Amino acid sequence: MILSETDVATRVVRWQASHGRNHLPWQQTRDPYKVWLSEIMLQQTQVSTVLGYYARFLERFPDVRALAAAPQDDVMALWSGLGYYSRARNLHRCAQTVVNEHGGKFPRSAQVLATLPGIGRSTAGAIAAFCFSERTPILDANVRRVLTRVLGFDADLALSRNERTLWLHAQSLLPSVDLDTAMPRYTQGLMDLGASLCTPRNPACPQCPLQTLCAAHREGEPERYPVRTRTLKRRSESWWLLVLQDPVGRVWLSRRPAVGIWAGLYCVPVFPLRSDVSVFLDGAGPISGQTMEEGAPFLHVLTHRDLHLHPFIVRQYGQAAPDDGGAWFTAAQFGALGLPAPIRKLLAGL
Ligand code: SF4
Repeated sequence: MILSETDVATRVVRWQASHGRNHLPWQQTRDPYKVWLSEIMLQQTQVSTVLGYYARFLERFPDVRALAAAPQDDVMALWSGLGYYSRARNLHRCAQTVVNEHGGKFPRSAQVLATLPGIGRSTAGAIAAFCFSERTPILDANVRRVLTRVLGFDADLALSRNERTLWLHAQSLLPSVDLDTAMPRYTQGLMDLGASLCTPRNPACPQCPLQTLCAAHREGEPERYPVRTRTLKRRSESWWLLVLQDPVGRVWLSRRPAVGIWAGLYCVPVFPLRSDVSVFLDGAGPISGQTMEEGAPFLHVLTHRDLHLHPFIVRQYGQAAPDDGGAWFTAAQFGALGLPAPIRKLLAGL
């Protein structure tokens, strides 16, 4: 079956109006700053989690100029707990680029939006469609799933030429009339379909507005789509977290390197081996009055890595501080620091 844009677009637009999500705070605006902020936060994070962060960010940084002018530490601190911290760093850089190179106004086309830090092609498409009704597609993970299934597109998306072909299909299915209303609704509708009905496992085809057009449903194996042969290899790593607490209760924290896990965030000293912790403590000077305790290890799951975290807590620490550019911080200061969520949790339990 050859699908036409009217088949798919009309159904998705109609379905979105009656069954989609229409009451989220970022759907009540066409301000590109707010839409961009929500789109970045929603990458890899659930709507329910984003709601609180979105409100706090807007309260603190009501517009792009306020965000651009903020110290990076303030941005990281407010982002703390959302994970994937490169998003926060790019968010800040993007705000500065919009202010410095675009006069404080977000570009109106997806093509130019995609040149800004942290804005990929799909996010650029979403901002342009939501805010400016540009006739441009998106292809995030949810939408990719819906479209490959509807089209029966079984080419391997690990190959970039196949990915490019799918973008062309996505473009050809866009609405062509009443774009001002249809583009935001269609874009949101595809996202909503992927999130609610066309799920990775057990898609709810009987409720789907595209069921009678859908190749994957006809074939009876929708879970076969999308096809991608290259899979991410997961790695596993152990980190020893040395929590040093001085006699007045302050904790030693230093910044993580600018690249890698938790880049640029504050953290307790990290060692790859238990024996490295001992070597550090032995070299720090004679022990007097301090207590040491090994906390229960816990797992922290990152996109490509499982981190097995082993806390090692030293209280009443009075020896030499680590030579890592860090400083002593009181519990009252933790809130203003960009801390990875597991470290924040660990410090809260001291
Ligand atoms: S019919 Fe099923 S597989 Fe096809 S788009 Fe709808 S939910 Fe997805």
